[in-house]
Amino acid sequence: MALTGLDIFKLLPKTNCKKCGMPTCLAFAMALAQKKVKLDDCPDASDEARDKLAAAAAPPMRKVTFGSGENQVQIGQETVLFRHEEKFHSPTVIGATVSDKLTGDELRKRIEAVNALRFERVGTKIGVKAIAVVNDSGSADSFAAACEAAKTASSLALILVSDSPEAMAAGAAKVKDRIPLLASATPDTAEAMAKIAKDNGCPLVAGAESIKALADLTEKINRAGVEDIILNIEGPGLKNQLGKAAKMRTLALKKVFRPLGYPTISFVCDGDPDTQMVAAVSLICKYSGIVVVDTVEPWALLPMLTTVMNIFTDPQKPVQVEPKIYKIGEPDENSPVMFTTNFSLTYYTVESDVEASRIPSYILVVDTEGTSVLTAYSGDKLNEKTVADAMTKLGVEKLVKHRKLIIPGYVAVMSGKLEEATNWEVMVGPRECSMLPKFLQEVWN
Ligand code: SF4
Repeated sequence: MALTGLDIFKLLPKTNCKKCGMPTCLAFAMALAQKKVKLDDCPDASDEARDKLAAAAAPPMRKVTFGSGENQVQIGQETVLFRHEEKFHSPTVIGATVSDKLTGDELRKRIEAVNALRFERVGTKIGVKAIAVVNDSGSADSFAAACEAAKTASSLALILVSDSPEAMAAGAAKVKDRIPLLASATPDTAEAMAKIAKDNGCPLVAGAESIKALADLTEKINRAGVEDIILNIEGPGLKNQLGKAAKMRTLALKKVFRPLGYPTISFVCDGDPDTQMVAAVSLICKYSGIVVVDTVEPWALLPMLTTVMNIFTDPQKPVQVEPKIYKIGEPDENSPVMFTTNFSLTYYTVESDVEASRIPSYILVVDTEGTSVLTAYSGDKLNEKTVADAMTKLGVEKLVKHRKLIIPGYVAVMSGKLEEATNWEVMVGPRECSMLPKFLQEVWN
């Protein structure tokens, strides 16, 4: 919780020496609480005051990273309970398991199946970002071998899952250069697991069944020298987990309760892929930084990744595509030219319907600050001038011999002014772009 002026005053020398330019230490404290001055302006502030003020200024939820290079992932540093208050910052990392009971071809195939969980949705590539090696065998040697195999065959961030400090030490030693996440320390193994995490420079998951036990455990791990911690609230039942997750988030963000000021992980490994999918989607919404599932069925993973994609956008900024000319198929100088706006959903709907027509085309995307056709038109972001300027800037005239422009049916009203502004013949397209294939086949052909 932010310190008040009086809290800060108690930390100051109270000599009223005026070196800071303020008449009294109290005046300086009040100004510091309002962020009008910096603590450095007081040359006599003690180290204790500096440490306490720095701790109070730290974000309520720590940022934690693991993995290396391009595949490093970041979670945490969230600031709000509800997305509409600001936005959620660190998209949930989805991971899938690989059991260390697998060997040889079976192990290789499972790792490949996890690697293959990648999709493209509305022009954005999405996929799993972590591979979780699970110590099902109970053997430290098997675990170390599976960790090494995952490191060799996958560039995804690694999560090592074992309750055994012996197995964890063996696995971490094989892959420590990839900075894996170690899961999990329990109240019984906290010291041993914290030592492994500290020795290998890895973040550590703390797992307990109650919020109180979890808070005690993070303090213990922190005292052992590990600062990068991830919370795993255990216990049966999705309802139970969601309730605890919401309570922990509230304590961390609203009460700035430091022992719970870390991102969270959920393991969704029970039940068939349908059940896992439903639980994972719920936990992404409330508020898992990492979700590990035990399925590699693409149809089960896609809804999870889509949920992440939808929740971790900025609600105040529409999702946009780059304003430019998009080629559908291999258009030539006789191909149709049409325009739409740079609202992502609008563009990809139009693109899909033009593709369905099988007529190679040019789509001119006009910058309307990410708004749809009707919204842009009514806000005067889409008018004859913005379209004409985009056509000139993007060199549409050089692409085709004809001078015919297809416009969305919803803005047929701008036809006359657009013809005057461009000297192109305007063809009014359908109001709904689902009718574009029929329109292009009948009118353009
Ligand atoms: S410089 Fe420090 S000790 Fe002196 S008046 Fe300012 S706050 Fe107080």
